[in-house]
Amino acid sequence: TRNAFPEKNRNLAVGSARLQEVQKAVHYYVDNHHCDVIGRVFHGMPGREARVSFSPTRRDVRLNAEGPRDVLHFGSYNYSGLNGHPRVVAAAEAALRRYGTTVSGVRLLNGTCELHLELERALAEFLGFEDCVTYSSGYAANLSVLSALCGEGDVVLSDMLNHQSIIDGLKLSGADIRTYRHKSLRSIESTLKKLPYEQRKFIITDGVFSMDGDVADLPGIVALAESYNAFILVDDAHATAAMGPNGRGTPAYFGLQSQVDVLTGSLSKGLPGIGGFAAGSKATIDLLRFGSNGYIFSASLPPPIAAGLLEGIRILQEQPELQERLHHNENHLRAGIRAMGLDCMNSESPIIPILMPAYEKTFELTRLLHLEGIYVNPVGYPAVSKNRTRLRINVSANLTQADLDRFLDALDRCSRKLNLQDAPPLQQTG
Ligand code: PMP
Repeated sequence: TRNAFPEKNRNLAVGSARLQEVQKAVHYYVDNHHCDVIGRVFHGMPGREARVSFSPTRRDVRLNAEGPRDVLHFGSYNYSGLNGHPRVVAAAEAALRRYGTTVSGVRLLNGTCELHLELERALAEFLGFEDCVTYSSGYAANLSVLSALCGEGDVVLSDMLNHQSIIDGLKLSGADIRTYRHKSLRSIESTLKKLPYEQRKFIITDGVFSMDGDVADLPGIVALAESYNAFILVDDAHATAAMGPNGRGTPAYFGLQSQVDVLTGSLSKGLPGIGGFAAGSKATIDLLRFGSNGYIFSASLPPPIAAGLLEGIRILQEQPELQERLHHNENHLRAGIRAMGLDCMNSESPIIPILMPAYEKTFELTRLLHLEGIYVNPVGYPAVSKNRTRLRINVSANLTQADLDRFLDALDRCSRKLNLQDAPPLQQTG
């Protein structure tokens, strides 16, 4: 009978060192992170519970403790503020009526409609590349591109702070992976030097690093790739519609589009949709259309999303003031935070980390800010290394000067309560 067997193990973490580590962090989130997932119960206030619900369009978070009250959102990837723009909504609505919610298929078979092709043409032109292909997410784009273009026998040099989708894509590729020190040209060159000139090699980097908010040294990488015969791949997930002229991304920021072999990115951050892309030469993109698994084996973007994205790109091109406001906002915040003596690391993008001395204080500061009506995300292991816990601010063009000042005011008050401004600087590791 059933009872004759020992009880089945239901704890997935047993036997896995990594999952045991992750589980520690999970407990911390469950116990202390009072606003972990959209719509979850708010645990932060003694004796009461409140619901936090998000409307991702403008000020975004509403917190109902003693009746609804506005909460400012400083954690959204809506960098350009295009989500909910009336023109984006109207375009998506029209496509919804015409096509429904899905094309019910993959791109290579029945899943391509005119909107997909138009979106890919518009993205290619906007980003400054010959052609472009879209995927169902930025994560899928990196997995697909890396497993298609890199393989056994290739050497890939990858920044140690590159996004998880790059790490996973490279594992899938079977290439020889050489991780280099964050942004270190010396570290890249010391590996390149030892490889034969004819060896197929790739340098891959995030354009904007998603946790630190610093920008890749693309001019330096381009110079090394020229000297040592390497391809360059850039993941611009946090830079598309957030960096460079009109939001055209990191290669455009440096005027180096023609030197980057493949640019990947996300369509759910600065651009108001969901999905991912890869841009490059026509020959490379043709290769990806017929040779990358995320394109062949996964469903196409919903047409309303494609239509909303197309309209978003049009607006970005017509209204440079959106990006100007975004950069004004990030510069103002960074200057204000640094003036308090807090450590924003080397942020130079709309991602602004505030390095914290300990996990507990990170969650405590998050909680105090929530009580002041400010939403920010705490970030800990495994997203960053264990001693690099931080608050991570994402700036939006939607925030007004009054919003920024309210944030700085609240941060000043809350960080003083926790004595953060007198804390000694953290030891840099790795
Ligand atoms: N690359 C980077 C650098 C990212 O930060 C992210 C998402 N956080 C992705 C890729 C994946 O993008 P998506 O959310 O569209 O899957």
